Amino acid sequence: MSAPTLPGYTHVYSGKVRDLYAPDDAPDQLLLVASDRISAFDYVLDTPIPDKGAVLTQLSLWWFDRLSDVVPNHLVSTDVPADVAGRAVLCRRLEMVPVECIARAYLTGGGLSEYAEKGSVSGVPLPRGLVDGDRLTEPVFTPTTKAPVGEHDLPMTAAEVAELVGADIGDLADGLTRRILARGNEIAIERGIIIADTKVEFGVERTDGKPTLILADEVLTPDSSRFWPAEEWEPGHPQPSFDKQYVRDWLTSPASGWDRRSGEPPPPLPDDVIDRTRQKYVDAYQRLTGRRFG
Ligand code: ATP
Ligand code: MG
Repeated sequence: MSAPTLPGYTHVYSGKVRDLYAPDDAPDQLLLVASDRISAFDYVLDTPIPDKGAVLTQLSLWWFDRLSDVVPNHLVSTDVPADVAGRAVLCRRLEMVPVECIARAYLTGGGLSEYAEKGSVSGVPLPRGLVDGDRLTEPVFTPTTKAPVGEHDLPMTAAEVAELVGADIGDLADGLTRRILARGNEIAIERGIIIADTKVEFGVERTDGKPTLILADEVLTPDSSRFWPAEEWEPGHPQPSFDKQYVRDWLTSPASGWDRRSGEPPPPLPDDVIDRTRQKYVDAYQRLTGRRFG
């Protein structure tokens, strides 16, 4: 699944999921095209998930709107070439903060492992006795490095973020990331969804040397967040989810025949796993927005 050729646009970069283009007539903008590629364990899988790019794009747009009083965003327009309509946006081309800004409202995954080992996450001490799926008193900022494609992101403390990007930007990123998750949960819970944790990316804009952070990339999607059905939430074990946890679980189950420690790339997904994954992405979109997809 290589990046499509688009007349009037020059392809500049492809991440695991998105293809970026520079509009030939607007050097201060980018066309951000979400493909149907899916990544897991830092590998891009061979099998795309139909409609995934459109779901991520539409859901991010929905959230940008609902978060506009919390944080400005990079959106310029959804008027994009017909070939990528629905899964692309024109956005401001920003200098990106080189940190994966993660906040956790519930304890699971990598946060839970770190807590089990140290009693804290990213240097933030937590109460004793928490179990998988427990709600935290308030969202905690647990940033990581932004590793190049093929490498793993590593946890950072707030102090390490400050050293890398400056204390002012570090503080802004910490506060905004936690506020985005908190606001997201206020809205999602009314629709029966818990957002356990999420990752956002910011661009920086400076006026008279003073930085402002602009929300970029995607926001509160099933790729960037853990979504749990609220009615089934029960701490003490892994939660059912509407996100790519399903794919991670299949890849690490005996059915896939894949050994994560082998260093081999994961196998392609079978058709039924592709269909179920697509359905989970569509369900997350429909539940949250109350709109039908497509
Ligand atoms: P992952 O999302 O899993 O971390 P990735 O970094 O490869 O993987 P993609 O979503 O495939 O991400 O690619 C999007 C790229 O576009 C990222 O590098 C992101 O930082 C960058 N990006 C997003 N919005 C903007 C923007 N407004 N200006 C400049 N770069 C942006
Ligand atoms: Mg990304």
